[in-house]
Amino acid sequence: MYNAKAYSAGSATSPLASTTVARRDPGEHDVQIEILFCGVCHSDLHQARNEWSGVMPTVYPCVPGHEIVGRVTRVGDAVKGFKTGDMAAVGCMVDSDRTCPECLAGLEQFCPNLTLTYNFPDKHLGGVTYGGYSESVVVDEGFVLHVPATLDPAGAAPLLCAGITTYSPMRHWGVTQGKKVGIAGLGGLGHMAVKFAHALGAHVVVFTTSPGKRDDALRLGADEVVVSRDAGAMQKHSGSFDFILDAVSADHDIEAYIQMLRRDGNITLVGAPEKPLSVSAFGLIMGRRSLSGSPIGGIRETQEMLDFCGANNITADVEVIPVQKVNEAYERLLRSDVKYRFSIDMASLGAE
Ligand code: NAP
Ligand code: ZN
Repeated sequence: MYNAKAYSAGSATSPLASTTVARRDPGEHDVQIEILFCGVCHSDLHQARNEWSGVMPTVYPCVPGHEIVGRVTRVGDAVKGFKTGDMAAVGCMVDSDRTCPECLAGLEQFCPNLTLTYNFPDKHLGGVTYGGYSESVVVDEGFVLHVPATLDPAGAAPLLCAGITTYSPMRHWGVTQGKKVGIAGLGGLGHMAVKFAHALGAHVVVFTTSPGKRDDALRLGADEVVVSRDAGAMQKHSGSFDFILDAVSADHDIEAYIQMLRRDGNITLVGAPEKPLSVSAFGLIMGRRSLSGSPIGGIRETQEMLDFCGANNITADVEVIPVQKVNEAYERLLRSDVKYRFSIDMASLGAE
């Protein structure tokens, strides 16, 4: 066991601050990674502030961070896929039972015995797992990903959650050329969704509450941009979408989006607001529309997504920050003031 520098929340109301956490020494199947960059996901904020207390109550101290890219510093004797010096990445999961039907299907995100990267029981050290706002992490190689060498590491980090969470449902629901696809909420997840939907050949419409994001949305790959507070502009798209991805982090009118689906259209929620959303039965009944959700993606699909990004030169648009600015970054997330993902340069932990 050794100590690693980290940033943690001590309670739902306290700002994140410098700390140290225990990490296990690498076992025979483990990879030790020096973390170079860690993305700031809105889920980190929800979790640090215990906004999901009904589903995943936060255990303090909480070290968030599940968009990890770094360099391998040590590997266990049985590790085959990584060696010292390799670039490597870790997303939202660090373990699963690997024997259940979900794991055998490569869908570890649905494993009943999943271990998430932070705030989940730690099988090795007891207590809970600690995430990527830290100088290093030790993870079983089955949950470590390869980062294409051509990708900028700061911009690649957000692929590990924002990337896979938007890529996976689009593949599942058949987003391809000729489909009309809506993306609601142009934040970290939303901007990755626009890039993927565009790369997959769809006609992409962005719905935003921020009129100032229009030019960015078009640059990121949108064909049209609609300000969602403009009822008239929304009405024009009624009954026309094959698929809508809802990546909004706060309470909003999902009914307005359901009305925009065509027959058999689907809206998938990836955004996870604190409070329940209101849905009327008739919006779904008329048009046989469906509403679903989707969590991250399996390890195999995450590697597929990273390779797709390597082949298509896709990374997140990031604002690189030192870890000391993470509390400010959280406040800016709440104001929808992010272009379009904060990526923490972990070298800044050296100043602590
Ligand atoms: P983010 O960067 O903060 O983006 C959220 C965007 O939602 C904002 O930029 C804003 O876009 C829009 N928005 C915010 N408040 C709004 C409001 N009151 N009404 C309407 N729109 C509003 O967040 P993120 O990191 O992309 O995460 C988005 C959500 O996905 C979070 O709830 C997060 O926890 C969840 N998430 C889920 C998964 C999963 O596995 N399903 C994985 C990661 C994250 P505009 O300015 O364009 O309106
Ligand atoms: Zn996330």
